[in-house]
Amino acid sequence: MENNLKDKITSELKELSNEIGKFVSQLIQFNTENPVNSSEIQNFIKEKLNDFGARTTIHTLNHNAVPLTSSLGRMDSHNFILYGHGDVVPAGDLGRWKYPPYSGKIVGDKIWGRGAADMKGGLAAALFVFGLLTQYNADDYLSNGVSFVSVLDEEHWAPTPSGWGTSEWLLRTGKLKGEACIMGEQSSINRIVIGERGDYWVKLACNSRPRHGSAPVFEENPNIVLFKVLNDIYDNIKDMKVEPPEEIKEVLSKSYLFIEEDLKQSKSKGIEEEIKKMMSTPSMNVGKVKGGTMINLVPDKSEAELAFCIPVGMKKEVLHKVVSGVVSRYKNEKVVLEPMASGSSSPTYTCPSSPLIKATRKAAKEILHHNIPMYITQGTSDANIYRARGIDTVFYGPGNFYLSHTYNEWVSLNDIMKIAQIYLNTIFEYDAFTSKSKEN
Ligand SMILES: [Zn+2]
Repeated sequence: MENNLKDKITSELKELSNEIGKFVSQLIQFNTENPVNSSEIQNFIKEKLNDFGARTTIHTLNHNAVPLTSSLGRMDSHNFILYGHGDVVPAGDLGRWKYPPYSGKIVGDKIWGRGAADMKGGLAAALFVFGLLTQYNADDYLSNGVSFVSVLDEEHWAPTPSGWGTSEWLLRTGKLKGEACIMGEQSSINRIVIGERGDYWVKLACNSRPRHGSAPVFEENPNIVLFKVLNDIYDNIKDMKVEPPEEIKEVLSKSYLFIEEDLKQSKSKGIEEEIKKMMSTPSMNVGKVKGGTMINLVPDKSEAELAFCIPVGMKKEVLHKVVSGVVSRYKNEKVVLEPMASGSSSPTYTCPSSPLIKATRKAAKEILHHNIPMYITQGTSDANIYRARGIDTVFYGPGNFYLSHTYNEWVSLNDIMKIAQIYLNTIFEYDAFTSKSKEN
């Protein structure tokens, strides 16, 4: 029964190859730059799912980045989630694109445009697999439920009635439940991402009173105070030693190589040490600095926004303690720290021996005929949100990391088709790993 069903869906999937390519191209043609101000793409996805006979819900929130969910079978216990995000980062300078970024141009095996790799290709693979499982009533066979979810605020979370991020909202409100999740983010089909760093974003402000710049006191200028605080924070975090948990050490030590491969596409030599440091100590980016209105005035206020990345093995609370400790030393200078809810997650990983990872790697080996290595990525995503809620989660999707967020993004249809097949097989493998078949 299992093989019959899997084989039937497999051959149907193969026949849909052209349609899937066209669907990815159509997804790209929706300009869904974050923040997304229309739910058109979700309606388009909904129509496609309805064609397969799936029941869908578009959840209404107080913004346009509305999430869509659809479920097959029972959503309790071992529910398996196929996740996609439909938002993209801005296309930037249109003149630097080989083909217009929202053309979804298909040339040979490649589909071009913003979001091709990150992650409309992976989203389409997940959608068609979920659709076919629905069409073939796979819930009659599978012990676990399967859900599909598409969100529009992964690149930057949207505020919801209960906090930031529609993924967090879906999980918190029980609109989506599960025990395992594949996110079709651009890991490339030859590797699987099983963990990532955390995020800690803060605002710093130094308040003063404006006065004439002809009689300034250098040290009292809020811009100068703020720069001192920034340096002081950096001095205190740059050598923090972080000890990763034993079970993840080996994967982490091999991750440097993959991250290096990705970064090498944009940066040349000598980055090995930089990457090791980046993955073993917190990193700090001063993203925004604002202070003053006129050259001959002492500013009344100086502000900065900082984004820290937290390595695996450290909790965000630990970093917060260090940063707030430094800032508290500048109380007399009226420096205040305000953590931002829109960037806040501890680093997470899914255990290499978990059923999800075993199932995915087994399924990948069947299709690709080689083992896919695991690694921890330097970025952060919704995966931290899922794992924080106890859901085993991996990134495994078509498209290469070095193509995302840059010009001339593309994805291979051949890779999308392989990934779709691997998703299908993973769901069956996972079902076998975690439960006894209903046939027995
Ligand atoms: Zn993405």
